[in-house]
Amino acid sequence: MTAAARPEPGPPPPDRGPARTLRQLTEIEVTRLRGLGERKAKALATMGIGNVFDLLTTYPHRYVDRSRQADLADLAVGDEAVVLGTVQRARSRRTRNGRSLVELEVHDGTAAMTVTFFNQPWRGRQLGEGTEALFFGRLVDYRGGRQMTNPVVDVVVAGPEDGKASARRTLRVVPVYPASARAGLSSWEIGGWVDEALRRAGDLEDPLPEHWRERLGLLARTDAVHDIHVPPSMEARGPARRRLAFDELLRLQLALVLRRRALEQDAKAIRHHVSAREALAPTGENAPGSTLVQRFLAGLPFALTRAQRRALAAIFAEMAGPLPMHRLLQGDVGSGKTVVAVASLLAAVQGGHQGALMAPTEVLAEQHFLGVRHLVGGLAIPDPCRLGGQRPVAVALLTSRTTASERAALHAGLRSGAVDIVVGTHALLTDEVRFRSLGLAVIDEQQRFGVEQRAALREKGRASSGPAAPAEATGPEPGADPDLLVMTATPIPRTAAMVLFGDLDMVVLDELPPGRVPVETVWEPGDQGEAAAWTRVRAEAAAGRRAFVVCPLVEGSERVQARSATEEHERLTSSVLAGLRVGLLHGQMAAASKEQVMAEFRSGALDVLVATTVVEVGVDVPEATVMVVESAERFGIAQLHQLRGRVGRSDLPSWCYLLGSAETPDARARLEAMAGTSDGFELAEVDLEIRGEGTILGARQKGRSDLRLASVRRDADLLESARAVAEDVTAGDPRLSGHPALADEIRLFLDPHEEAYLFKS
Ligand code: ADP
Ligand code: MG
Repeated sequence: MTAAARPEPGPPPPDRGPARTLRQLTEIEVTRLRGLGERKAKALATMGIGNVFDLLTTYPHRYVDRSRQADLADLAVGDEAVVLGTVQRARSRRTRNGRSLVELEVHDGTAAMTVTFFNQPWRGRQLGEGTEALFFGRLVDYRGGRQMTNPVVDVVVAGPEDGKASARRTLRVVPVYPASARAGLSSWEIGGWVDEALRRAGDLEDPLPEHWRERLGLLARTDAVHDIHVPPSMEARGPARRRLAFDELLRLQLALVLRRRALEQDAKAIRHHVSAREALAPTGENAPGSTLVQRFLAGLPFALTRAQRRALAAIFAEMAGPLPMHRLLQGDVGSGKTVVAVASLLAAVQGGHQGALMAPTEVLAEQHFLGVRHLVGGLAIPDPCRLGGQRPVAVALLTSRTTASERAALHAGLRSGAVDIVVGTHALLTDEVRFRSLGLAVIDEQQRFGVEQRAALREKGRASSGPAAPAEATGPEPGADPDLLVMTATPIPRTAAMVLFGDLDMVVLDELPPGRVPVETVWEPGDQGEAAAWTRVRAEAAAGRRAFVVCPLVEGSERVQARSATEEHERLTSSVLAGLRVGLLHGQMAAASKEQVMAEFRSGALDVLVATTVVEVGVDVPEATVMVVESAERFGIAQLHQLRGRVGRSDLPSWCYLLGSAETPDARARLEAMAGTSDGFELAEVDLEIRGEGTILGARQKGRSDLRLASVRRDADLLESARAVAEDVTAGDPRLSGHPALADEIRLFLDPHEEAYLFKS
C-alpha cells in the first residue's frame, strides 16, 4: 500500500500544554493560587483542602439558578422559600428574657425581609452588612412585614470586598460550596479559587480508554470537572456529575478487581478432593465408597433446594480448581446457608484438611458450634491410628471464654490435625493458632469483619505445616492458600455487595426450603397490640407450640442487658405469662446452662423463652411459632428480620409481634417495612435507604476518601459499568501495565500498604 492510501493525519490539537494528571494536581499546594495566603490556607486545611486536587474535588452542594430564582416580591407569607439576598443592616441585641437576638434586613433587589436568629450570636459576625447569602426558611408575617426565623443559611459572598474578587457575579448558575462559617470562608471565595485552579490546570488527562468513554456516553474529564463547578446551565450538571461519579466508582472497582487479581497471581491453591457431580449425585447413606460429603448430604432429613445445589456446585468446582476460592454466599434468613457451609467444610475435611468457621460474636460462635456439631454428628472419617480405622469428625470451639487448659489442648489438636473443624471468634486469628492444614475458612461476616481479617485467616493457611492426608491426597503442600467462603447473615443489596465484597465472587440462595408459610407480622402500637401478642402466645402454647419473647435492647454491657432480661422474665412470669413454663436465656449465662435451656425449649419442656438478642441468629426450633419483640423500635431492620427468622421454620403458621411505639419517622419506616414484606432482599434495600449509605459503607476505605458524588443506590448502572471496565482493563494484565495512567491514578487512592501489595513487581 502506498502512503497516499493512509488516512490523512488530522490537524494537531490546539496546544494547551500537556494534560495534567490528578496526581499532579495533588502536588500543587493551594497557597500557589492567587490571593490565597497562609491564613486562608489554614482555614481551608480545616476543611481537608490542602492542594488543588482537594479543592477541585470539593464539589458544590447546591446550585442556584439565578434566572429562575423566585423574587422575594412574588413570595407569599407561609411559603417555604429560598431567598438569595444581600444583608443591608445587621443588629445584635438581647431580648428581655436574656436570649441573644440577631436581626438582619435582607434585600434581593425586589423586596426586603427581616431575618431573625435566636441564640445564635455568631450570626452577627457571619452575616455582616454587604454579605450575600441564601436563606432557606418559611416566610411569616411579623408586624406587617415578612420575616424568616432561624433559617438555614449558605453564605455566598462574605462582603463587599469578597464580592469584587472575581467575575462570578455574572454567572447564571451559582455554585454554593459547603463553606464553613467556623473556618471563616465563604462559598464565593472558594468558588474564586476553584475558577483560578480550573484556568491554570488547563486540560486534564483522561485515563479512561476512549472507546469505553464513547460506549458509556460519558463526558470528557476536563469538561466534567469544569461543568460541575461552573455549569453553563442547570442541565449541564447531570452529565458532569455522572462522569465524575463514574470515575469514583471505577477507582473503587479497580482496587477491588486488582486485589483479586493479585491474590490469584501468587496463589497456591489447594485442589480439594471433591467433585460437584459426584457429591451432588443421589446415593444411599452408606453406599460403599461414598465420600464424607455424600454421606453428610444423604443423612440430612431433607433434600437440598435447587439454590443450595447450585451454590454447592459452584463451591465444590472452585475448591477442586486451580485457584483459591474467594466467594460470598448470600441468602435470606432461613434459606439454609448453614448446611451449605458445613458441606463445604466437610469437602475440605474429606481430603485430609481442616476447616475453620469464624463468627463475629461469642454468642454466634457458640451457636454455630452447636449447629455444626449437631449436623456432623455421627459422621466418621478414616483414622489409621485407631482400632477400626475410623474416628468421628472432631469439631471444637474457640472463643475468648475458652479456658487456658482447653485452649492449650485445642491448639495442639489444630496443629496435629486431631481437630477437623474449629468454630470461633477473632480468637482464631491469634498467633498461637496454627493449623496442620487449613483447607477452607468460612467467615460469617455479618458485615463486621473486614478485608484485613479475611486476609489474616487466609494467612493461617500459608502457615500450615502440611496435610494430614494419606499419600493419595496429593498436592496440598504446606503454605497453600485456603479457600475462603464469606457468608452474610442477612442479605445486602447487590450494589452494596459490589462495593463491600467486590473482590469476591457471589452466589445467592434465592429460594427458601419448600413448605415455608410466611410469618404473619403484626405491628400494632399500644396496649391492644400487646394484649393480642400475649393471647397468641397462650393459645399456641396450649396447642403444644412455642414462643420467643425478645427483651428490649438496653444501653450498656452484656451484664446490664442480662440483668434487664432477668427482670423482664420475672415480670412476665408473674403477670401476663403466669402459669406457662417460661425459660430465660441471655449472654451472661454459662455455656452449659445455655445449652440446657435451649434443649428444654427444643424438647417442649418450656413453652416460652424470654431472651436477649442471643437468639437473633442461628437458633432453630421448628415448633416455635410466635416471636414477640418488645420495644421493637430499638432494633434495626436486619436484626428484626433475623429475629423474625426464628419462627416460620416449618409448615406451621407463625406470627411475629412487634411491640412498642415508633417515636421517630425512621423507626416507623422500619416497622412498616417489616410489616409490609418478608423478603430480606427487599428489606435490605429499605434499610440502605433509611440508614444512608454512609453508615453501611463508611468503614470501607482507608486511603483517600473517594465516594463524594457517587451513590450506590442512585448510580447502580454506573457501578455495573465501572465493574465491567475494571474487569476489562485488568484482564490478562493484573498490574495494569497496559494502562499506566489508570494505574497511577488508582495508586493515589490506596493506602500505602495496599498499594505495595497490589503493585509489587
Ligand atoms: P440461614 O440461611 O438463615 O442460616 P439455616 O441454615 O439456619 O438458615 O437453615 C434454616 C432451617 O432450614 C434449618 O432448620 C435447616 O435445617 C433447614 N433447612 C436447610 N436447608 C433445607 C432444605 N433444603 N429443606 C428443608 N429444610 C432445610
Ligand atoms: Mg444461619
